[in-house]
Amino acid sequence: MNSNQCSFCGRKRSEVQMLISGNDGFICEECIEQAHGIVKETNSATGGSAAADTVEDLKKPKEIKEFLDQYVIGQDQAKKQLSVAVYNHYKRLLHAKDENREVEIEKSNVIMIGETGTGKTLLAKSIARELNVPFCIVDATILTEAGYVGEDVESILSRLLMVADYDVEKAEKGIVFIDEIDKIARKSDNPSITRDVSGEGVQQGLLKLLEGSIVNVPPQGGRKHPDQKYIQVNTQNILFIAGGAFDGIKEIIERRLNKQAIGFSAEKLNKVEEEEYILSQLNAIDLRKFGLIPELLGRFPIITYLDKLSKETMIRIMKEPKNSIVNQFVELFKMDGVELKFTDDGLESIVEETMDKGLGARGLRGTTEKVLEDYMFNIAAKKKIIINRKNTQF
Ligand code: ADP
Repeated sequence: MNSNQCSFCGRKRSEVQMLISGNDGFICEECIEQAHGIVKETNSATGGSAAADTVEDLKKPKEIKEFLDQYVIGQDQAKKQLSVAVYNHYKRLLHAKDENREVEIEKSNVIMIGETGTGKTLLAKSIARELNVPFCIVDATILTEAGYVGEDVESILSRLLMVADYDVEKAEKGIVFIDEIDKIARKSDNPSITRDVSGEGVQQGLLKLLEGSIVNVPPQGGRKHPDQKYIQVNTQNILFIAGGAFDGIKEIIERRLNKQAIGFSAEKLNKVEEEEYILSQLNAIDLRKFGLIPELLGRFPIITYLDKLSKETMIRIMKEPKNSIVNQFVELFKMDGVELKFTDDGLESIVEETMDKGLGARGLRGTTEKVLEDYMFNIAAKKKIIINRKNTQF
């Protein structure tokens, strides 16, 4: 072995910046870069269903749901619908490769409706993780119609390109989560009153991204300007998942149900069941009434809703997911040799406090931080800490 040259490319120590030694040889920085590139390429070619060659290779909806179960608690209906949508999406990609096909299968973009902190973003993120495809989150409220202050709709794809390391082919199979889609609803049910800058124009702008077309994307995002170089991205195989709280949608559904006289007996259902029943009746007509334009709705054929999180679900969220809040803090304390335990009533108390704040599961971490603040400050003062209702007084 020559300790003065790279064992891979043979370059001399004087020709490279560094030589890293292994058991039986040396490697230079350039060969490391190259090897890294090969590993990355192979991983993206073999990992995840996105690269599957046959339907048999695709993860089945049940398997996708099982994966989601590890990260997202409850929300079975949404998980089921999303698993099927994603499965069909990737089946469609396979189908599109078949040159003799006679039927065009259309895209199945998804709209998720649910209060803040119920797991919409988490669901979309987990799906992307499972499929090993680029994923980005964009907020619909920053988008504006061309010619107004704000970002052009194309900037959505700039982000996707960024997370795909500007690998256009990879980005073209990615997933985009459009958050707060409800905020670009038309303010009035009557389209002819005034031009609605923030809402309807943006919805119109989104159409061409959603339906699948070649779009000129400004690589750095923001506003497009004439002498900028664009990257062309085909959106045909990008899956769009939109989410929003849609405040007031329940009343819209209720009104429609009453009008159609599909009565349901309120006495037989408790309040939570009644709400779930009403939301389960949600359809495109209600979203149209809310202010989404029909063309946009036509491109989101799958509409799903997320349940409000009950106290029991919130407690499960504290302890069950793979990287649950409880597990994270137990781990953190363990590093200092401290054993941390939460009793059932301790968890209940944290959940009750969080629910009072109305932040959904998003607030759980903050509340737990607050409870543990002093213990973390005086770390190692005790070897064993038990968090029960008594020491979680807020
Ligand atoms: P939103 O519905 O507003 O998009 P998020 O998905 O961002 O809510 O949820 C915020 C955080 O709350 C998540 O990162 C996760 O930690 C937690 N969370 C919310 N819902 C769930 C759920 N159903 N299961 C597990 N964790 C959840």
